[in-house]
Amino acid sequence: MKKFYIHTLGCKVNEYESDGIALSLENQGWLKGDKRQKADVFIINTCAVTSKASMQSRQAIRKIIRENPDAKVIVTGCHAQTDPEQIKKIDKINQKDQIVCHKDKIQIANHIASICENKSPLTFKKPDHSLENIFHGFDSAVTGEMTRAYLKIQDGCNAFCTYCIVPHARGSSVSMPEKQVLKHLRQLNDAGFKEVIITGIHTGMYGLDLREKSSLLDLLEKINDEKPIYRVRLSSIEPGEINNGIINLARQENILCDHFHIPLQSGDDDILKKMKRPYDAALFEKVIHQIHKKIPTAGIGVDTLIGFPSETDEQFENTYQLIKKLPISYLHVFPFSARKGTPAFHFDNKVDPKVIKSRCARMRELGKIKQKAFISAQLNKRQEGLVQHKPDSKTGVLKATTSNYLTVFLNKKYNLGGKIINLIPEQFDSDMNITGRIVE
Ligand code: SF4
Repeated sequence: MKKFYIHTLGCKVNEYESDGIALSLENQGWLKGDKRQKADVFIINTCAVTSKASMQSRQAIRKIIRENPDAKVIVTGCHAQTDPEQIKKIDKINQKDQIVCHKDKIQIANHIASICENKSPLTFKKPDHSLENIFHGFDSAVTGEMTRAYLKIQDGCNAFCTYCIVPHARGSSVSMPEKQVLKHLRQLNDAGFKEVIITGIHTGMYGLDLREKSSLLDLLEKINDEKPIYRVRLSSIEPGEINNGIINLARQENILCDHFHIPLQSGDDDILKKMKRPYDAALFEKVIHQIHKKIPTAGIGVDTLIGFPSETDEQFENTYQLIKKLPISYLHVFPFSARKGTPAFHFDNKVDPKVIKSRCARMRELGKIKQKAFISAQLNKRQEGLVQHKPDSKTGVLKATTSNYLTVFLNKKYNLGGKIINLIPEQFDSDMNITGRIVE
């Protein structure tokens, strides 16, 4: 049996797409190998979100070619899309059928089958920026190996924030038709999944491109009415795209998890303008209070981008103080790094990397304080948890993920993987590991 291996860099959308490619190959009789084994075909799904990610993508390609000189190598993903010429400079990546752009990803399995059977490979267009405005999705639901499945309902972005390469890599926003979303959710339910993470590049733009105009709220309401799966979670949503309708769907009787992951990036209005983010700190504050007021138990995660060009101490302080006063449950802190191909790459007054480092450290400390406060407020409250298939690798103890995104280590060792249980979080340690017990 022919074997393949996929090396994935970057975000959850890339992981989802790699899982989809793997499933298509397995359906055609291929065996999925792991890193250490030899394979006949290697696929590298690259990332371009930072210059470092692009460099790591090229390193991964070189390493695989060096270690597997006789294998076939296919390169896809954002770096392949934005900079195919760089990739072609790599020794042995000179054939045009080795670089596959985003919209052709779903055909990679057929492409590989053709190459390996010495038929002529599928003809792909040269990766360029003229991405067609059509959603290219897998025919069937992508199951992957995780307890919680992902479903990409949207791709691309029209926002062009000044630091972000993604719209250049993935084109304008396109959405999976509603019927297909529901079909995939039902398939995932039939495959035994209890939770699906609804993902995309700019999920809040869902539906705006469809012939029958729709929106993320319309879609979530439909899912809530039809209940094709036990629960769904939004992977992330922009502050200006959260509304009362979406928040209401995250209330306990409904299907949406009470967990919102919201990119703030900066709490300073001038920096937000320079980033071309379409909201101000006041709107962000209002949204967080709106969520917390309606759902006090909701998990609210926030992304921050620290050290954007010209960010002064005072402007950083604005971000810090905004986060400090809001009921946020965890923080993701990213240091700014100039990405070639974006406007911010050329912005003056770059912040000293040492200053960025110390601001990030301060923000991460604040993140810990926020997380501790959130966890403390959730102790001794009964919640539903989805038990992960794989017990903790160190202790062998089961873990469950709650609707508001706590991971709770449980007191039972027998197999409950994939099941929804009731639990009570009881205590947590200095590393924020929460332990709890299963209850009836
Ligand atoms: S909203 Fe901004 S940060 Fe997010 S993908 Fe679009 S351009 Fe990038």
